[in-house]
Amino acid sequence: MAHSKALLVLENFIDGKFVPCCSYIDSYNPSTGDVYCRVPDSGKEEVEAAVKAAKDAFPIWSSKSPLERSQILNKLADLIEHDLEAFAQAESKDQGKAITFARTVDIPRAAYNFRFFASSILHHTTECTEMATMGCVHYTSRAPVGVAGLISPWNLPLYLLTWKIAPAIACGNTVVAKPSEMTSVTAWMMCKLLEKAGVPHGVVNVVFGTGAKAGEALVCHPDVPLISFTGSTLTAQRIMEKSAPHCKRLSLELGGKNPAIVFDDADLTQCIPTTVRSSFANQGEICLCTSRIFVQRGIYSEFLKRFVAEAKKWKVGNPADPTVDVGALISKEHLEKVRSYVKKAQAEGARVLCGEGVNSLALPTGNQKGYFMLPTVIAEVKDESCCMQEEVFGPVTCVVAFDTEEEVIERANGVKYGLAATVWSSNVGRVHRVAQRLQSGLVWTNCWLVRDLNLPFGGMKASGIGREGAKDSYEFFTEVKTITIKH
Ligand code: NAD
Repeated sequence: MAHSKALLVLENFIDGKFVPCCSYIDSYNPSTGDVYCRVPDSGKEEVEAAVKAAKDAFPIWSSKSPLERSQILNKLADLIEHDLEAFAQAESKDQGKAITFARTVDIPRAAYNFRFFASSILHHTTECTEMATMGCVHYTSRAPVGVAGLISPWNLPLYLLTWKIAPAIACGNTVVAKPSEMTSVTAWMMCKLLEKAGVPHGVVNVVFGTGAKAGEALVCHPDVPLISFTGSTLTAQRIMEKSAPHCKRLSLELGGKNPAIVFDDADLTQCIPTTVRSSFANQGEICLCTSRIFVQRGIYSEFLKRFVAEAKKWKVGNPADPTVDVGALISKEHLEKVRSYVKKAQAEGARVLCGEGVNSLALPTGNQKGYFMLPTVIAEVKDESCCMQEEVFGPVTCVVAFDTEEEVIERANGVKYGLAATVWSSNVGRVHRVAQRLQSGLVWTNCWLVRDLNLPFGGMKASGIGREGAKDSYEFFTEVKTITIKH
């Protein structure tokens, strides 16, 4: 592929300095299909240098008070907010997402991640118990673990990376982060702000490159005792294997196959636009996106008609256009994979009601080679179909009918994943009952993606191990010790 003159070339960020790499990989602009930037193809050597810098920085950083670290995190949040527009433009260009989404979701949340942990780190307490008969008091103390390895995916690049960096450094760890090789630009931009925010050299190191080379070198490094990973279940299995010889502490946030359950007493005026959003936001490339919609039989036809009409309103096109709802998918390979699921469902007798293969997609001239796909709604899909079992991670959602509460709980739980579920009903007793029985780390009722960062986030079954949140991330990124004092 020929490179244009204006190609952006990224460098690793190690010990407070940008360092060139000896080889690079191409990263594409998904909305045009052109090479957008060159990303370091780091390996063992670069990871070694980054881990050494992080290890050297640990004694000073870990001995700072929570208040000192909190002030630095807040300053970093200010700087990201100040450059919000530049970050949003870069995220949209690099990932393919609609600029409006990057402006209102990705970048504000990335800044807020630092602000949130800057605050929460000030409010943790440890435990103390008294054993009077033995003349003892017991108390716990918590200390940062050391060098944290942080590995993040391409769908919400800066949002998810900062969700790991912020708690890790707030707790006093130093980090080596490896963003996805497909979306590295905003992490590189953030590195430019670290010094101004007051982050000492070596506290945050970012190594760019592929999972197989840079990611695995980080996972296998003996001086990295904990790995926080967000990505696919398949990669997580590999990370577990590779880190097993070192007994590393792992936090794994993985894929989902998230159901929405719509009972016949649901408020459809709220449910339909929200469920269209939960299916197609960020091109359906959010781990929390709905991809199986179970609708009670009495309202199934009406729901389908209104849902398809609403889905058709979603505008697909140039992500830089602020009126666009659905941008480009991350890569050509991913687009082909998502399309193949629609074809397989059709071959099994399912009906595609709108989108892929049904409606035509008119794209602006500059976007003809981009990786676009219309929001696609599929009905009459069998529960055992791969479209209902596997994570598609694109703008595709399946709508099926159910009869009873008991039946729908069993069907909703009938996948290997257990990340998020949504329940729509105006019967309070029912939403509690169903929420309790769903095998899912998160259950939203009569809403979607309303988050309080204080509370645990994460999945059950193949959707992950561990939780993240104010208390959960604090526990993950610190080592607890129980001390007994006899007087
Ligand atoms: P992926 O697993 O392919 O890659 C994720 C990261 O891991 C990337 O940085 C990649 O380079 C790295 N990696 C790949 N192989 C590696 C290896 N052998 N060792 C170390 N690192 C390696 O996932 P993806 O395609 O980037 O992201 C999509 C997936 O992420 C979906 O399954 C989605 O559901 C999941 N996800 C989960 C959450 C959550 O919070 N549960 C959030 C967002 C995305």
